[in-house]
Amino acid sequence: MSYIKENLEKIKTSISEKTVLVAVSKTKPIVDLFEAYEAGQRVFGENKIQEMVTKHDALPKDIEWHMIGHLQRNKVKYMAHFVDLIHGVDSLKTLKEINKQALKHERVINCLLQVRIAKEETKFGLTPEDVSDILNSDELKSFTNVKICGFMGMATFTKNEAILNEEFSELETLYNLHKKQHLDFTILSMGMSGDYKLAIKNGSTMIRVGSSIFGSRNYIA
Ligand SMILES: *Cc1c(COP(=O)(O)O)cnc(C)c1O
Repeated sequence: MSYIKENLEKIKTSISEKTVLVAVSKTKPIVDLFEAYEAGQRVFGENKIQEMVTKHDALPKDIEWHMIGHLQRNKVKYMAHFVDLIHGVDSLKTLKEINKQALKHERVINCLLQVRIAKEETKFGLTPEDVSDILNSDELKSFTNVKICGFMGMATFTKNEAILNEEFSELETLYNLHKKQHLDFTILSMGMSGDYKLAIKNGSTMIRVGSSIFGSRNYIA
């Protein structure tokens, strides 16, 4: 059995069926993705639009593609015809562009707002105030072709469980608060290779796992 298949099976047995596993395949060759596909994986996450387009074109069409990286607005058009979920939305301007491109293809594109939970300064994301401003804005109501399905967050890169627990539970609280008013909210995307078990304990419904499936990457992406 290949290591990719083995890794996938190991992770799947450690999570419940309700948790969506996004296989983060950034920087990995198409053969690796195909191996995961043959092992039954159908949800893949990439962080560069061009790379995702190339892989989408080469692989079977029943794959669900998630954009998990920071978005360049001028490239949204290249993935608008197929992307299933955009995790890293952090402004109304970006939502406006996604809406415009989705409209051209007569699609509704699912999005998550990226919330900053890590105390590290390098991470992208919205503050709880920014989130409220976006969700309550009149402009959002005019975006008929985007659907905000929940939040995405990245915790501090640490093994310190107290810090991770604090950051994940902060996002869970914010999610539950907004879920009361936004019935479309079904997704809380948090947890990666090193911290997904703690994320699930704190209410994550979707984990984004790369290196634990495909092995470590050659460069930081
Ligand atoms: C790379 C990446 C992941 C996966 O990271 P691993 O530690 O390899 O599991 C998850 N989320 C985002 C946003 C990423 O960029």
